[in-house]
Amino acid sequence: MKGFADLIDAFAPADGPPPTSLTGFIKWSLSGSWRVMSVSLLTGVAQGVAEVAGAFMLGWVIDDALASDPTHYFAEKWPILLAMAAFFVVLRPVVMGLNAAMTALTIGANLLPLVLSRIHRHTMGQALSFFEDDFAGRISQKQMQVSRAVTDVAMELVNVVSFSLATLAAAFALFGSIDWRLVLALAIWLVVYVFFIRHYLPRIREFSKARAATRAVVTGQVVDTITNIATVKLFARAGREDQAAIDAMQTFRITSIDFGKISTWFRFNLMTLAGFLPVLMIGGSLWIWTKGTASAGDIAMAGLISTRISQMTGWVSFTAIGIFSNIGEIEDGVKTLTVPHLIQDSASAKKIVRAKGDIRFQDVWFNYGKAGSGALNGFSLHVTPGEKVGLVGRSGAGKSTAAAVLLRLYDVADGQIFLDGTDIQDIPQDSLRNQIAMVRQETAMFNRSARDNILYGNPDAGDEAMIAAAIRAEAHDFIIGLKDFKGRTGYEAHLGERGVKLSGGQRQRIALARAILKDAPIMVLDEATSALDSEVEASIQDALTHEMQGRTVIAIAHRLSTIAAMDRIVVMENGRVAEEGSHTLLLAKGGLYAGFWSRQSGGFIGADAAE
Ligand code: ADP
Repeated sequence: MKGFADLIDAFAPADGPPPTSLTGFIKWSLSGSWRVMSVSLLTGVAQGVAEVAGAFMLGWVIDDALASDPTHYFAEKWPILLAMAAFFVVLRPVVMGLNAAMTALTIGANLLPLVLSRIHRHTMGQALSFFEDDFAGRISQKQMQVSRAVTDVAMELVNVVSFSLATLAAAFALFGSIDWRLVLALAIWLVVYVFFIRHYLPRIREFSKARAATRAVVTGQVVDTITNIATVKLFARAGREDQAAIDAMQTFRITSIDFGKISTWFRFNLMTLAGFLPVLMIGGSLWIWTKGTASAGDIAMAGLISTRISQMTGWVSFTAIGIFSNIGEIEDGVKTLTVPHLIQDSASAKKIVRAKGDIRFQDVWFNYGKAGSGALNGFSLHVTPGEKVGLVGRSGAGKSTAAAVLLRLYDVADGQIFLDGTDIQDIPQDSLRNQIAMVRQETAMFNRSARDNILYGNPDAGDEAMIAAAIRAEAHDFIIGLKDFKGRTGYEAHLGERGVKLSGGQRQRIALARAILKDAPIMVLDEATSALDSEVEASIQDALTHEMQGRTVIAIAHRLSTIAAMDRIVVMENGRVAEEGSHTLLLAKGGLYAGFWSRQSGGFIGADAAE
């Protein structure tokens, strides 16, 4: 049995990025499974042919029985009767079983992982701005929606469409053997059916697309509220959030009603149309029988096949609605998911083994894709290997942005950034980011163990190195005291949203341990110790000073005492360098930095600093 499930490699990577067109996207997401799908299609066809063959046998038996002498019937006809019985109890179940296994096991179990893994891989490669411009919940919901819809469409095509088309083709052949007028009647009915479908399905598709879009808005709204639940409570805005959710759901409800109306009409009209088929075929063959050219077996055969097809129309139309609404959902999701990667590795990009750590920003401009004055306005800075630079400036001066563009989380609008003399555009993103250990002010924890969270910095490091890093980041002591809701303790305790709640300072210490473990030639600390109390900070500062040996360091800090001892202090203002020099030199100069220093209270730059 399991062999059927192994016929497709469920995690085969796709060829390049996904095309933005619907058919291109479907081909991309299913590539590698076509051969198996064709085989499944054939089993569907075989099932359809078997259906009609059954009706043919019944007609034949009736005619044959009527023409035979009952006393010797079984004695004479047993071989052919046995063969027919074998068809019903052996061959037909085998064909159907094969089709079921191909549909449920081969296709059903593999296509969703195949499509989802491809989409997810593409999504992970998106630039940071892609995620900042959308809701996390909406993106993941679209991923699921599209993968499920592609899987369903493929399954339905293979299962239902092949089966029904094969049934129809065989029915035509069979009616042809009775009388050409039956063929004509079926053909006319079929033409009406096709026109009917063509009238309804595009509308159903539109309504389904609208419904999918409004459903995504509901998810986005709900996830946004839950993500920010603390703020909702602090401002006592649950009522407002509830109303916003209700508004979104109301819109969803309206699009669902529209969809429901059209699909109800569709089904009702279709059933009426389906009702005509047995009337036409049985009536027609009766009429032909009165003319003497059809037999009783022919009438039975026509009756059986037309009622089968008539029943099938309900089922096929249901599937057709499913297929078209799924196509609507795929179209809706494809818009979001196939966006080309904004930041790409150039074909000629060369990996770096270990950087020396020479960093040069050269007249860099960047504005987060917005018009007007930017976050970086001609920012230039040269940091030599092993140099430790402290970056200060008012909030919004562009310090974090400078760090972000160095890691190529965004591509600069103008100017260049060089690492060891190579433009970072010519370095693969992963290779570039491997050279830099960055600690940001806010680090969310993965919903994994403390060990896994620290080892994220270097999954190959052993426990010994991991614990050493934790000790240096002053994290070891509190980690061994952790206990999560499942009773896991110490390094096994799970962190993150659904794990142990850590304070901002504890999260920063884990983030530091992770960065220490990474052992990169460059360290970027963006308010890395801002959430620690002065005592812990002082002792971490010693560890950090030790870690900084032999590395290039850029440290952003509001608390000036933490960077006063750096080799050089760079003051940013309006996205460019305003002043630079050593702590003493800048104090003597009496400019912005001296202002910050004299006005900082308790070591922080005051809100009104240097004004
Ligand atoms: P700093 O780190 O010095 O406080 P930032 O680099 O965070 O300053 O911000 C510089 C400017 O860029 C600010 O005007 C800020 O509003 C803007 N900015 C920062 N991050 C984003 C973002 N993700 N999207 C759009 N604008 C941003």
